[in-house]
Amino acid sequence: MRKKIKLLIIASILGLLSLSLVQGYLINNTYKLKKDVFISETKKSISRIDDVSPSLDSINDVWQNYFLNVVADYYVKKISKEDVLIMLHKKTDSINNSYIENYQKEIESKNIGYNLKFQKKVKTIILLDSLGVKNDTLFQSATKPSFLLLGKNFSNKDSHNVSNSLWLTDHSFVREINGKRKSVTFNLQFQTEDRMNIDGWEKIVFRRMTSLLILSVIIFLFVFGLLYYSIKNLITQKKIADIKTDFVNNITHELKTPLSTLTLATKMLKKEEIKMQPKVIENTINTIERQNIRLQKLIDEVLNNSLGYQEIKLNKETVNASDYLNMIVDDFQLSLDSKEITFNKNIIINAEIIIDKFYFTTAVLNILENAVKYGKDNLNIDINVDAKKDFTISIKDNGIGIPKKHLAFLFDKFYRVGNKEVHNVKGLGLGLYYTHQIIKAHKGEVFVESEENKGSTFTVIIPVK
Ligand code: ADP
Repeated sequence: MRKKIKLLIIASILGLLSLSLVQGYLINNTYKLKKDVFISETKKSISRIDDVSPSLDSINDVWQNYFLNVVADYYVKKISKEDVLIMLHKKTDSINNSYIENYQKEIESKNIGYNLKFQKKVKTIILLDSLGVKNDTLFQSATKPSFLLLGKNFSNKDSHNVSNSLWLTDHSFVREINGKRKSVTFNLQFQTEDRMNIDGWEKIVFRRMTSLLILSVIIFLFVFGLLYYSIKNLITQKKIADIKTDFVNNITHELKTPLSTLTLATKMLKKEEIKMQPKVIENTINTIERQNIRLQKLIDEVLNNSLGYQEIKLNKETVNASDYLNMIVDDFQLSLDSKEITFNKNIIINAEIIIDKFYFTTAVLNILENAVKYGKDNLNIDINVDAKKDFTISIKDNGIGIPKKHLAFLFDKFYRVGNKEVHNVKGLGLGLYYTHQIIKAHKGEVFVESEENKGSTFTVIIPVK
């Protein structure tokens, strides 16, 4: 059964883990999907801004016309390739602020609801001669990183491609070459890339997934809770079943001795030769009586000690704590056969307590009896009281002690520590349960501290008033 429960726990953990993995995978996929949708939505809303906005269109015209003239100078070898790029830079730098301002206005008019930056980068500038035979590359992003033409500066890493555009144009112009005016034509191929940078796009995508994430967490917690509850229930049921089996074994064991003595005694009384021996008859009847009392006590123990604290009806009275405790301990000491037990009493105190003497005595006696039952040779029992705030009695022994893992269950009904030393001592596991119920009925507390092989201390606290 224990193995089965362990297997069930392992299977449940594995099941839960795989469920989490599948859920994680699905959430990740949804995230990617939502991200793609979000990016393409944004691209769509801004992709044609450059073309449809008249202000941006006229700014583009300014640098394009300027650039064509610069390229014309280069074409007639008036300036170098480097000069072409430097002059282009200078021109676009001078108009960039106005470009950014106009672009931002266009974006705002679209009301997209988040911050977006835009840039246009140059990828290639190639000059084709008029016959289209010999290409002259002025710039190529395959050999050098593409550079910013217009817009804001941000890295490729933090941004997304919006579109690639190609500007193809034939440009004819008249220049004086070697003293003669000539008409010249060149073909320009100018390739740019538009990129955008969205502030906190991850957060926006996550926000769009909130309901899915919340639902996933709720489902996961629900399944986890259900499993936890079922397994916990199963373990409790198993514990109860074990405790019940132990109880049945213990009570059978306790009943066997008086019953077999009774069987022997009745057999004895039936014998003819006994009838002539009144002494033997008397002894046998005494034995029957003793066993009968023992059986009666056993039944009373099961019946009374099973009461819950709500069923205990207290008949409280005010007693002097010192006198009362002295009396219990002295009576208990007298009832013991063994003289090898040392009692150290520290119970002189000027306090009055309000208790039901009958029940409270049973509770204290149960603890004292256990100290003796689970004691060792040279047993010392220390009894201390304190009444600074509440009334406290602590009963400390140097007996076999209790392993830590059992302490939490010690006051449970029928609970016994399952080791060899305890097995040899008779008991039903009801004494401490009953003590706890009695103290609870007095609105107090009882707790235990113990170390295996060193001893235990039981402390009872009840309110003074
Ligand atoms: P019982 O003595 O009939 O078994 P109790 O409810 O009185 O039942 O005690 C429950 C268990 O707590 C005992 O079986 C024993 O294992 C442990 N126990 C109680 N008191 C002591 C003690 N003073 N020292 C060691 N073990 C103790």
